[in-house]
Amino acid sequence: MTFVVTEACIGVNDQSCIAACPEDCIVSRLADRISVIDPARCTNCSVCFEVCVVGAIFPQDQVPLESREFVYLNALWFEDKDATRARVQEIAAPCHRLASH
Ligand code: SF4
Ligand code: SF4
Repeated sequence: MTFVVTEACIGVNDQSCIAACPEDCIVSRLADRISVIDPARCTNCSVCFEVCVVGAIFPQDQVPLESREFVYLNALWFEDKDATRARVQEIAAPCHRLASH
């Protein structure tokens, strides 16, 4: 089990979860618009879930249907940062928001 950061983090990314995670398994670099959780290292302690100011973090099995892609994207970041950033950028773009509603 892991916790997952979803789209509500985009544009906020205040990194309070990074500061709070006891396992140091949440990361965000300068090029990132969101923080992501390493699913291989998360111990499911829920501290990040409690500190997130926008409710962007969920236990993996409770990620809302419309945000399920972020289960994949959090894990993908640790394999392919460029692909993850490109997809997050696409999701953040206003045209995508219009198209998805
Ligand atoms: S659940 Fe705990 S270990 Fe996992 S990312 Fe959140 S704070 Fe870190
Ligand atoms: S606490 Fe929430 S909004 Fe802040 S960086 Fe973490 S996931 Fe993003």
